[in-house]
Amino acid sequence: MKKKHFWIIGLLTIIIFLSIPTFHILKIKWNEKNLIIDIPKGFTDDASQLNLTKVDTIIQVPTDKKEIEIQLKYVLKYAKENNLKISIAGAKHSMGGHTIYPNGILLNMLPYNQMELDTTNNILTIGSGALWEDALNYLEKYGKSIAIMQAFSSFSIGGSISVNGHGWQKNLPPIAATVVSFTLMKANGEVVNCSRQENHELFKLVIGGYGLFGVILDVKLKVVENEALQYKYIRLNPDNYVNHYKKYISQNPNVNLVFGRLRISDKHFLEEATLNFFEKVNGTIPTLQTKKTLKCKD
Ligand SMILES: Cc1cc2nc3c(=O)[nH]c(=O)nc-3n(C[C@H](O)[C@H](O)[C@H](O)COP(=O)(O)OP(=O)(O)OC[C@H]3O[C@@H](n4cnc5c(N)ncnc54)[C@H](O)[C@@H]3O)c2cc1C
Repeated sequence: MKKKHFWIIGLLTIIIFLSIPTFHILKIKWNEKNLIIDIPKGFTDDASQLNLTKVDTIIQVPTDKKEIEIQLKYVLKYAKENNLKISIAGAKHSMGGHTIYPNGILLNMLPYNQMELDTTNNILTIGSGALWEDALNYLEKYGKSIAIMQAFSSFSIGGSISVNGHGWQKNLPPIAATVVSFTLMKANGEVVNCSRQENHELFKLVIGGYGLFGVILDVKLKVVENEALQYKYIRLNPDNYVNHYKKYISQNPNVNLVFGRLRISDKHFLEEATLNFFEKVNGTIPTLQTKKTLKCKD
């Protein structure tokens, strides 16, 4: 075969090879509907955009500690007098309408996001409306990081404590383990401090309590030193998962974060898995790069 023909066949093969994924991406983009749906006035929704609900009022809480207490006491009194229910919303990623009550009052906690670090005791005091990404950005300046959080950083502290989320942190329990204490506004407007020593029953009920026991205001969280980690992954047959997990994760003290994935595509459904982990390494910690989260519109 002539050299020229060889090049043409090579070029055509590359074009055909690239056209398959390109066609697939274009087809998806073409069929994609506008992702942000406008919410009519007087309604709200959660992140799923499947729970459009009419509400009485949406209240943006203030950022200031004193002001929030005054405002929420007033709202609670008003709700009681007018027989209205109150729901509490963080980032609204619990997508079953957990943050919305039909014709009720919705508290948008996101503005309440102030933070202060006690560097001696490694304790962060944080407003329940702050997102994990806010906390990570703040702590980075002190060489610290969050001890336990979910896989994504777009959730609020109040919403995360209220579901008692878990994370990728190896061998660690859910977020509850890092909560030292929090202040809670109860239904009667009283603000109480809850910890393992003080108001212990409320402390246990509120963590994982889906906002049913009051409004979490300020949270004291244990924080850890920031560390440089390197991502690695292994593709494997799911039948070998446990053995590989023991070898690469359990027996490796340098693994800090770990998660697994099963193949869920039509082809080879559940026939392949990955073990993804992050190992501690010596070296400089790269600067945090967080994309600003798209917050749900009200
Ligand atoms: C893509 C994705 C990935 C996820 N990954 C994980 C994961 O790795 N691990 C895990 O455990 N979970 C995970 N989740 C679930 C997630 O942790 C919960 O949905 C969490 O509640 C999200 O936080 P939020 O701020 O959106 O809470 P919201 O949905 O706003 O609120 C959750 C609950 O908390 C209550 N609440 C919110 N703020 C307060 C407050 N200040 N006081 C009292 N109650 C309050 C609300 O009323 C509601 O009942 C994931 C969810 C998604 C969508």
